[in-house]
Amino acid sequence: MDTPLAPPHVIVFPLAAQGHVNSMLKLAELLAYSGLRITFINSEYIHHRLLRHANIQARFTAFPDFRFKIISDGLPLDHPRSSDHFMTIFKYVKSITKQLLEELVSAPDRPVTCIIADGILTFTIDFAGDLGVPVIAFRTISAGSFWACFCIPRMIESGDLPIKGDEDMDRVVTSVLGMEDILRCRDLPSFCRVADLSDWTLQYVTTQTLQTTRARALILNSFDRLEGPTISQIRTRFPNLYTIGPLHSHHKSRLSSSSLPSPPPPSPASNSIWEVDRSCISWLDKQPPKSVIYVSFGSITTLNRQDFTEFWYGLVNSGRRFLWVVRPDSLAEGGSSAVPEELREAVAERGCVVGWAPQEEVLHHGAVAAFLTHSGWNSTLESVVAGKPMVCWPFFADQQINSRLVSHAWKVGLDMKDVCDREVVERMVNGVMGERQEEFAAAAGDLARMAREATSEGGSSWGNLDRLIEDIRSMKP
Ligand code: UDP
Repeated sequence: MDTPLAPPHVIVFPLAAQGHVNSMLKLAELLAYSGLRITFINSEYIHHRLLRHANIQARFTAFPDFRFKIISDGLPLDHPRSSDHFMTIFKYVKSITKQLLEELVSAPDRPVTCIIADGILTFTIDFAGDLGVPVIAFRTISAGSFWACFCIPRMIESGDLPIKGDEDMDRVVTSVLGMEDILRCRDLPSFCRVADLSDWTLQYVTTQTLQTTRARALILNSFDRLEGPTISQIRTRFPNLYTIGPLHSHHKSRLSSSSLPSPPPPSPASNSIWEVDRSCISWLDKQPPKSVIYVSFGSITTLNRQDFTEFWYGLVNSGRRFLWVVRPDSLAEGGSSAVPEELREAVAERGCVVGWAPQEEVLHHGAVAAFLTHSGWNSTLESVVAGKPMVCWPFFADQQINSRLVSHAWKVGLDMKDVCDREVVERMVNGVMGERQEEFAAAAGDLARMAREATSEGGSSWGNLDRLIEDIRSMKP
């Protein structure tokens, strides 16, 4: 009797950081739902937290062919993991990847069809190549940020880089094709802000990005109508490109599609590594419609005390209601992030502060009018899908470009990049909640509709995800 063919087996390998794991786990879940066998490489630190806070045990045991492979990220479990620790984690993971892949690829019961590797772990391409396994790169950043990094050599050649000091920051950058009308030096990824072109981080990011061309294909968590001109440019260098975002928006539409296998459906659950404080939802339930600005700077951004204080005053002085996520490790110097004494009454009256919120649910809440964000790509996409205008305060890396897309490409909000001053915070919050509220809300509504269309049956991202699954099925393990 013939044994039934085993499904293709995909190893999904994210960098061990909340934003990266979040979107790659969502993709892994969608692939599992389509019947693919998945091994998801997860750091012990993140895995424990997902078990505790995102109920992944229940969610993933429902997929019998889904396994987690747990690795160390090189730091003790009780060590903090902010943006400062990225390189330590990266270097450690690099040092163990060869052996890790050899072990996974040699397992006789689970032959490996391909690896979907985080696009900043490009060393995977070499190690997997030695084992004869193809790698598809997944970049968790916007198409615009990826493309700007890819164009760094071109920017240097044309003289757009280096940036010549503070007085040069508003100069228009012309050598990032597809974004010529949008970018100033100020909007380039933060590691471009160096006078010395041999700067280690700049060199590193450039090399990693250029290396991506050696992957079999490229996946981006974006959609064609969101970043059309840039995506067209990327296609010229990456003909095998799958734009499949916003990934978190597929869950609902795939769930309601009648042609899907059963069970289990992909879950719309968040992949949160912090304990969610749901008291903010009860608080939101008591607020008038569209009256609240939601404030969050993501999972790793740390603020200095001065910026922190400016935000407190700016929010209170705006007179608006606000819900602010202040993580226990939000303050760069450590110490207390308590409300300044003189603002306590005002905050108690119209503010709510939690350590971690169920962000997607918050953004879809009727009481929330707008989002003050650090412009991380996941947060940006979540706001796009929820149709909420944004005030952007980008912190580092790709966030500088994302905030420019918000303010100048999509026109769904305001960018307060490089300024953290209470009057600016107040003005920006009142801009999106007051004077320009209708204009921004209408544009954000249009964008949300486009995102829904892209991830619904017949939409571009829906079709590209199907194509990705079919292409994986056609690969020989
Ligand atoms: N997030 C959340 N609750 C919070 C703050 C953030 O669930 O209180 C989630 C948010 O929904 C997003 C992720 O954390 O999916 C942050 O990712 P992003 O790419 O925006 O920023 P990063 O944390 O990588 O800087």
